[in-house]
Amino acid sequence: MKLQLPNESLNTKTLILLILIAYLFSLSMRYLWVMDVQGIEAFHWNNALMINTNDGYFFAEGARDILKGSHQAYDLSPIDNPASLLTAWLSKIIPVSFETLILYMPAFIGSLIVIPLILIGRALNQSTMGFIAALIASIAHSYYNRTMTGYYDTDMLAIVLPLFSLYFIVLALLHQRNRFLIPVTITFALYQWWYPQGYALNTAILVTVLLYALIFERKNHYIYKISLFIIIGILTLPIWMKLSIALAVFAFFHFQPKLDQKWFWFLFAGMGTVYFATGGIDPIWGFLKSYVLRESVSTDTAELHFYNVAQTVREAGNIPFTVFAERISGHTISFLLACIGYALAVFAYRPLLITLPFVALGFIAMSSGLRFTIYAVPAMALGFAYFLLFITQGIEKRWLRSITLFVFTITALYPNYLHIREYMTPTVFTAQEVSTLDKLGKIASREDYVITWWDYGYPIRYYSDVKTLVDGGKHTGDVNYPASYILTQPQSNAAMMARLSIEYTEKSFENNNSAIISSMLKDYKADTVDDMMVALQLNPALPKPTRDIYLYLPLRMMEILPTVTLFSYLDLQNPDNKPEQPFFYATQQIQDTGKTIELGNGISILKEKSILKMGSQETPIKGFYQVGYNKDNVLQVNEQHFASEGLNVIYMASYGRFVIVDDFYFNSAYIQMFVFEHYDKNLFEPVLLDPMSKIYKLKV
Ligand code: MG
Repeated sequence: MKLQLPNESLNTKTLILLILIAYLFSLSMRYLWVMDVQGIEAFHWNNALMINTNDGYFFAEGARDILKGSHQAYDLSPIDNPASLLTAWLSKIIPVSFETLILYMPAFIGSLIVIPLILIGRALNQSTMGFIAALIASIAHSYYNRTMTGYYDTDMLAIVLPLFSLYFIVLALLHQRNRFLIPVTITFALYQWWYPQGYALNTAILVTVLLYALIFERKNHYIYKISLFIIIGILTLPIWMKLSIALAVFAFFHFQPKLDQKWFWFLFAGMGTVYFATGGIDPIWGFLKSYVLRESVSTDTAELHFYNVAQTVREAGNIPFTVFAERISGHTISFLLACIGYALAVFAYRPLLITLPFVALGFIAMSSGLRFTIYAVPAMALGFAYFLLFITQGIEKRWLRSITLFVFTITALYPNYLHIREYMTPTVFTAQEVSTLDKLGKIASREDYVITWWDYGYPIRYYSDVKTLVDGGKHTGDVNYPASYILTQPQSNAAMMARLSIEYTEKSFENNNSAIISSMLKDYKADTVDDMMVALQLNPALPKPTRDIYLYLPLRMMEILPTVTLFSYLDLQNPDNKPEQPFFYATQQIQDTGKTIELGNGISILKEKSILKMGSQETPIKGFYQVGYNKDNVLQVNEQHFASEGLNVIYMASYGRFVIVDDFYFNSAYIQMFVFEHYDKNLFEPVLLDPMSKIYKLKV
């Protein structure tokens, strides 16, 4: 049996029709989430559903400030970010609200993936293959998850753009005409602009094309030309400069075809030099180090050793094979068939070899975490489509073959459809939380700071238009340290560190020295933060306040409090001295059996003895606190004391939660101010006290 399938010719009208069908299919699948969550009032703000990815608020902040025409110095608003620029531009031409625009952008833009896939199929005279691949790729688990409605992020073009590059390379390899070279540069340059992290993938494609030339067509000058135009596209230069270079080189080839051969290698060497001189392979090495070799990036400043955020964020360990397969193809069986089909397809259609870097990057996920599976999606979708066409070749009756293909395609799509139905992602914040942030925005000035954990940085900056200490992109150990310290230390330490960290952060932008903790210690002539705090208690000499500072304490931080603590509950001077972490347990799993209250994980309260049982161990309950709202929504605290030592049990009745903490957590600013609303009147003043999130203003 021949591996190449019989050629299919396709006129432009049918091509457009196929693209439209696949695009509408992809869009309608992305509308299922909207239909399911539309009725949930808590997911709406400003008459639109809110987005469901935290990072989206970063791009939204940038776009908002671009449209507004101003922003504050050092507010970290990404006004030059491509995603923000695209959003701002679209918002000027598309007559929908800003909220609606960012909600639907990922669905409408991410669904564009069907176009390059169908075009690649058509270029190979296999339009049906492209069409089936487009349907599957558009809703494969990992691709869907990162381009679903509301997943407003750079992912929406992170696969689409390089697939267009592949399409033009396939055309170039097949037809070997100079006219395909400029689109190669354009697509690479656009992708590099949109997603600078794509540099490693782009370089891998370049290497693949060079290898392709060396192995199969060593003497074919044209293939090297393709690599030259790829290099131009990925140079670390402004996009207009790359396009000018590409046009100049193209014109040279076009008007001086005789000199072409002679000067080509000179040009090639020149561009190669620029490549190594500008970006080079350092970024790729950095990428490999952080993701493949899992080397953690050092965040130490001076002699202080901070906790590395990568230690908590990275998806742990290897992922099970079934999860890996499902994320790429929807089901283990379709994934295995796709692998076979892919292997056969690259033999049958050699230009498809240039999809190898995608497959390789996708397969890195096996050892480096789920985020990479998305790259293998398009190539494996093509593999699966080829497999279907290949095994149904023998069916002679055309209608019978069409039905067979239809049935198998639907079968392959079905697990992906099921995944979409089950994947009911909530919005980042609820309307109630956003309403509090909205009110804060009206109280606070744009130069004021909100201190909280980094997870809430982007949404707070978007909804309240204030500054933040840390956010989804700025959360290395050294910048997380003060945030963690403020949230988990007693109020007096928290207040002093709040003022210090903000004033030092603002100063750090001006003098370009981001080691703020080191600077504080130097200025206050202290060896450790503890020493500095003791000195400040005796002689409060805080920097002069330049702005207001707010503390944002949300209920949702309760779940991650131990993680927050990790970043400041450590010995900065001696990284080997690892203190035992304080005790914290929170649960909503509560079962009253009469004599005991079962709290899950082998933890229970023995009511009569006022003792806490953890496994076989018994610990005295120091104090029992019941906190809840009364009819008038005023917080009430009832407390009972049982022992001088032991753990504190807090029953947050209105939230149906039990929290068990030692004295460290009990005295922390977060527990005292959020759970009990006990605040030091000399240090803080309450601004907004909503049950879901409480905001205090610093008075020192
Ligand atoms: Mg701002």
